[in-house]
Amino acid sequence: MFIDTHCHLTFPNFKEDLDDVITRAEAADVRKIIVPGMDLHTSREAVQLADQYVAVYAAVGVHPQESRSFNPDHMKEFEGLASHPKVVAVGEIGLDFYRDYAPHDLQKSVFRNFLNFAGHRRLPVIIHNRAAYDDILKIVREAEFREVSGVFHCFSEDERGAKEIMNMGYAVSFTGTVTFKNSKTAEISKSIPLDKQLLETDAPFMAPAPFRGNRNEPAYVKHIAEKQAELRSITPGEVGRITTEHAYHIFPRLRN
Ligand SMILES: [Zn+2]
Repeated sequence: MFIDTHCHLTFPNFKEDLDDVITRAEAADVRKIIVPGMDLHTSREAVQLADQYVAVYAAVGVHPQESRSFNPDHMKEFEGLASHPKVVAVGEIGLDFYRDYAPHDLQKSVFRNFLNFAGHRRLPVIIHNRAAYDDILKIVREAEFREVSGVFHCFSEDERGAKEIMNMGYAVSFTGTVTFKNSKTAEISKSIPLDKQLLETDAPFMAPAPFRGNRNEPAYVKHIAEKQAELRSITPGEVGRITTEHAYHIFPRLRN
């Protein structure tokens, strides 16, 4: 079996055919799917999907690009959501200095708020990084967040960065970009042990070959697993077994 540890099923791209998307995922042996929230509203929706579909699990949080929507008064509701048995993580959270949707200071304070929240609830975090790697690293290494762990999703830093994160106990996860021709991320992924990695689509974005440029969906995890298998001369089944085990280690509530 495979687990898609990052997929935005709350996005409008899936409105028309969500039942079919989930059926196709299950047919491709993708038995669990983590849907992260982008803000309070989509966090609620992710939890609703988890109630609706056996395969779906949720994460709740505020994405850096939605930092402006953050309101401390919402934390009570986030607390309620996080106590749902199928909420497996806090996310996605992090910093995005590439698109600059929100001032850096605001992004950092929202990020710290949710790291703190995750620490108190003993939940792992799903971290989004874009052009902000050094700042993220500095923050997660602050003394009060040392107990927090999780995943750096859609990893795009270099090999040294991947090893740094792995050594901190965080998982590293790569999307469909590993399937692209002359893929740099494939090389980086290959340089670190598979048992420190997770599978993810980041759908609807980042569709793997041969679907590059189209809408991505959880069933395509299979193509990423096949590429990971080819890189290591093992079977896709092995890739599934190793990464599933690591997903259970990083997100203990996924076992429920
Ligand atoms: Zn995402």
